[in-house]
Amino acid sequence: MNKTILLNNRPNGKPQESDFKFTSEDVPKVNNGDILLKTKYVSVDPYMRGRMSEAESYIEPFQLNKPINSGIIAEVIESKNDSYTKGDFVSGMLDWKEQQTHNGKDLLKVDADKAPLSAYLGILGMTGLTAYHGLTEVGKPKEGETIVVSGAAGAVGSTVGQIGKILGCRVIGIAGSDEKVDMLKSKYGFDAAINYKTTEDMTKAIADAAPKGVDVYYDNVGGTISDAVHANINRFGRIVVCGAISLYNSTSLPTGPRIEPILIKKSVLMQGFIVNNFSDKFPEGIEQLSQWLKAGKLDFSETIVEGFDNIPNAFLDLFEGKNKGKMIVKV
Ligand code: NDP
Repeated sequence: MNKTILLNNRPNGKPQESDFKFTSEDVPKVNNGDILLKTKYVSVDPYMRGRMSEAESYIEPFQLNKPINSGIIAEVIESKNDSYTKGDFVSGMLDWKEQQTHNGKDLLKVDADKAPLSAYLGILGMTGLTAYHGLTEVGKPKEGETIVVSGAAGAVGSTVGQIGKILGCRVIGIAGSDEKVDMLKSKYGFDAAINYKTTEDMTKAIADAAPKGVDVYYDNVGGTISDAVHANINRFGRIVVCGAISLYNSTSLPTGPRIEPILIKKSVLMQGFIVNNFSDKFPEGIEQLSQWLKAGKLDFSETIVEGFDNIPNAFLDLFEGKNKGKMIVKV
């Protein structure tokens, strides 16, 4: 039998295990023109929380009682499509199913000899591209400037910080444990890192770590952490609004300090973005990230959870900070 995971409920606040439902179906028959795919690695990502609700967004909501989908690496185990051979590995937006048929469109072949397959979901996939294009196209850091990254020990944040170092900047990370803070400094070469869970005065801690102020704030979390960074932003600073995970489970409209006076007084640019805005530049991004990886200038971490049945829990754990680097499920 072929296990599938459906959306059972639209969560109110923090998502729970009961929002997901497991079902079984027969392994589908492969029609002419199709391929049969076996799921190997599943990406779970914070943005999927938005798709669990009905609210209109840049990507359509998941449907109740229908399979959830996300970035997946799968193996072609049967092919009736001339473009694919048994044994090929592909990456694409696929359903949370152990096996599924597909017409092959919008899938990307990935090379297991060039990089570990899971890397195509992280550093050489959506999260790597988010870090690269978000920082270079929106943040536009210049050598010698100071960058602060929130969610710094996650998939996007850890890559942003390393790119910042490659570009010659001072990089300060914000993360949720001492272990993560140590990792940012020792493994990724961040100049300073702050544990937001144990630091009472975040505004002061950022000022201490950034004596010349903050030129670029790459924001993955939003909320009060960001309020503290905004208070330290420099004249002509850039605030890159990539994610707001601290607000994704809010059930009421969050309020906080108004940012407009800061933007005006300091001539600051604050810009949100979606990685797909840069889709025409993805080949350049992948090429650059691959080169840095090969040259040993870029490193990455993965938290790999084993087993198809653990996909929902791996997703839920993102909101508890249980991952270092990219959260991935190996099936
Ligand atoms: P991460 O690997 O960073 O995982 C999520 C991390 O967020 C956790 O490990 C946790 O780390 C932190 N976190 C969870 N809850 C909170 C909270 N309440 N306050 C502060 N931090 C919290 O995920 P990604 O790297 O995949 O994504 C990072 C951000 O980028 C997300 O907000 C995501 O939505 C966004 N994103 C945006 C894209 C775009 O196109 N704009 C594309 C891809 C991602 P800790 O222990 O430090 O708390």
